[in-house]
Amino acid sequence: MMSKFWWGSRKGKRKISWLKWQDLCLPKSNGGLGFKDLSLFNQALIAKQAWRILVNPSSLAARILKAKYFQTEDFLQVSIKSGCSHLWRSLIWGRSLLLKGLRWKVGDGRSINAFKDPWLPRPSTFKPITPDPNINLQVADLIDNEFPGWNINALNHHFLPIDREIILSIPVSYLGGPDSISWHFDKSGSYTVKSGYRLALSEKLNSSVSNSTITRKWWTSIWNQNVPPKVKVFVWRACLNAIPAGFNLWKRRILDQPFCSLCRSSVDVPGHSLFWCKEAKRVWGCSRFDSFFDGLQDLSVLDVLSRLFSRVSKEDFASICIISWAIWDNRNLSISGGKSREPEDLIRWAEAYLAEFQLAQRKQSPNGSGVVGIGVAIRNDKGKVLASLSKALRGNFNLVTCSALALREGLLLAKTFNLKIMIAEVESQLVASSLFSPTISGREANAIFKDINFLSSEVGICLGQTVSRSGNLLACNFASLASSSYRDSLWLDFSSAL
Ligand SMILES: [Zn+2]
Repeated sequence: MMSKFWWGSRKGKRKISWLKWQDLCLPKSNGGLGFKDLSLFNQALIAKQAWRILVNPSSLAARILKAKYFQTEDFLQVSIKSGCSHLWRSLIWGRSLLLKGLRWKVGDGRSINAFKDPWLPRPSTFKPITPDPNINLQVADLIDNEFPGWNINALNHHFLPIDREIILSIPVSYLGGPDSISWHFDKSGSYTVKSGYRLALSEKLNSSVSNSTITRKWWTSIWNQNVPPKVKVFVWRACLNAIPAGFNLWKRRILDQPFCSLCRSSVDVPGHSLFWCKEAKRVWGCSRFDSFFDGLQDLSVLDVLSRLFSRVSKEDFASICIISWAIWDNRNLSISGGKSREPEDLIRWAEAYLAEFQLAQRKQSPNGSGVVGIGVAIRNDKGKVLASLSKALRGNFNLVTCSALALREGLLLAKTFNLKIMIAEVESQLVASSLFSPTISGREANAIFKDINFLSSEVGICLGQTVSRSGNLLACNFASLASSSYRDSLWLDFSSAL
């Protein structure tokens, strides 16, 4: 159902699922979309119940289950017997996940067999690498009781250096106390569904082959690109051969031949549509990337993009991705009989779209974009606006500094046009108080506070007070205008000032 939702439907008809659901459940860094694998998640939930039985053997549920299924055996070792309930079967399924992350925490070492039990903090077996000599050696035998700590001689005698090293990393308590079971994959030592799910998923990934050829780094960089999300999704799909190019539609019996509808000379695989079709080549020919494709002829989308990725700058790669997406869009327009763009126009449009997107991204992060907008409005005693100003300033400033900068600009504006100011309203309390005390020690905005203090005496100000954003909407709007357009503007109307 979730798969249907992702691929969408049109007029009640289900659209094609281009990738298997289990592939979508892979993490993004492994080429999937990071959807939850419900079966694994379910197992992680049930493993929590198994963990409870293990750590609370006196609970009612644990006692009932013990009476029924493991009277004389250990919960971690009991096997499924025929005719048992669905509930018990599920619990044993959850337990199989739990067993992959359980290990002993050393107390006095009496309960732990040094070679047969999992107790070393090293996945996946948690057991020594040293071959098992088949002697009954308890961890207690490796602890020096005279001087609490590891018995180095015993360790040297029984273990290879690789094991000795890890054993010596386990602290030994002076007080001893019983050994206990812990869950390795959470710092607390207790099982959590989140860590259980992560373990189950990583086990599944390790068993799948596809990830060895396509590196995590590649997929991560695709998702981290500074391009619109729909372009990322498009590139991801194209790399996995999951876009409706002619050949893919023919394979699914939607088209009756696999050839390209535009050039009619080649089989229309995604690489052909985006790079090698004569229509695509016309577009790339007009771009600054034309020569980048030398030697890549007829490679797949994944091969082309992954090679280009290692050769070109981040910015160029983002442009290549967005142009590929635009080519695909344009191609679909011409195939469906719509009006497509000419190559030069298409490139200009795609690059402009990318620039606009990247600019908008910058606006969303006030600390880090390098530009802040400030707004000022000067009103007379009847509330009429006499002068207003919006200004884009270079820098990464916090709210206090922005507020101070706005006040300084406002005072300067008033001084320039000889306007007397009675009350200054600003967002920051600290800035309001700076009107009458020039040095607030240790503030980065101190230099501006000095200017404010000087200017405020010039324009005759007698009160500084704070006001919320909604209370000073006009100035706020001017500020966002400046930060979004990167432009300064000044507006004056002194007709009512006289
Ligand atoms: Zn073609």
